[in-house]
Amino acid sequence: MIWLDVDKPTKLCTLHTAGSCAYWQKKRETQLKGLGKLKYEGGWLNFVSAEQAMLYFQSNFPEYKFIDHC
Ligand SMILES: [Zn+2]
Repeated sequence: MIWLDVDKPTKLCTLHTAGSCAYWQKKRETQLKGLGKLKYEGGWLNFVSAEQAMLYFQSNFPEYKFIDHC
């Protein structure tokens, strides 16, 4: 599973593809960030491929910075 961490306060989209990644494992729903959906400060969205996540980033958050984390 590919996860894209959309963080609105820092304007970062971080791509996580490794199940062994600490961030991947710690992802969870919080009051301000969603899991599988966006909330006030963003959220974690899942995709079937890194290409799809990249396309989503390019069309929805073009002004954000993209980080390929793992
Ligand atoms: Zn990662």
